[in-house]
Amino acid sequence: MSTAIFEVARLPLPVAVVRHHAARRLRLRIDHERGHLRLTIPPRGSARAALRWAGEQRTWVEAQLALAPAGVGYADGAVIPLEGRPVTIRAAGGRRRVEIIRDELLVGGPPDSIARSVERWLRRAAADRLSAATAEIALAAGVTVRSVSVGDAASRWGSCSATGVIRYSWRLILAPPECLRFVVAHEVAHRLHMDHSAKFRAAEERLFGAAVAPARALLRELGPTLRLIGRG
Ligand SMILES: [Zn+2]
Repeated sequence: MSTAIFEVARLPLPVAVVRHHAARRLRLRIDHERGHLRLTIPPRGSARAALRWAGEQRTWVEAQLALAPAGVGYADGAVIPLEGRPVTIRAAGGRRRVEIIRDELLVGGPPDSIARSVERWLRRAAADRLSAATAEIALAAGVTVRSVSVGDAASRWGSCSATGVIRYSWRLILAPPECLRFVVAHEVAHRLHMDHSAKFRAAEERLFGAAVAPARALLRELGPTLRLIGRG
C-alpha cells in the first residue's frame, strides 16, 4: 500500500491516493481526522484518471462536509473536554484571566477576547502537563530529551527526532489522561528505539506501565472530535 497526497483544483481538501491490492473500483471518502480525502484505487488503476474522477465528485464532497459534525467554538456556555471531562466555558468579565473551578472554565476580559484566552490557556496547560510527564517518563527510561513543545499538527499526536526534540499536539490536554500518557510513553520510547520494532513496543509498554492498546484505541476514537474543538 502506498500513499501520495495531491491538491485537486476543484476539491476543497487535498486527496490522498491509496493503492490497495484488494480494491476493485475507485472509492472516495472523507478522512475527517487527517483533513483530507482518501481515494482508493485498484492495483493497476491509473492515478491520473482516478484524480480526474475525484474532481468530478465535488458536489458529493461538499454535501458530506456540510453534514460533518460542526466544530465547538470557545464561546460562553460551550462545553469542551479537558483531560477527558466536560467543562463549560463561562464569560466572567472583569480582568483578563482564566481559571478552572470544578467543571467550569471562567474566562475574564472582554467577550471578543474569550476564544484567544481559552486557546492560550489550553496550550499552556498542555505544555505544562506534557513537559512534566515527559520529564518523569524520560527519567524512568534513563534517557535525555532535548526539548518539548506543543503545536497543532493535523494528523499526529506527537513526534520525536533522532536528536531528542519532542513535539506534541496541545489537543492531548483535551483527551483522558491515559491517552496523553500513552503518547508521551510512545515518544520517549523513541529515545531508545527510532522505529516501531518489537523492542520499541516492549519499551513503550514498560514506560506506559500497562498495555497501550486501550489508550491508543480510545485516542483514535476521540481524535476526530478533539480536532474540532475551538473550530466552531
Ligand atoms: Zn512512533
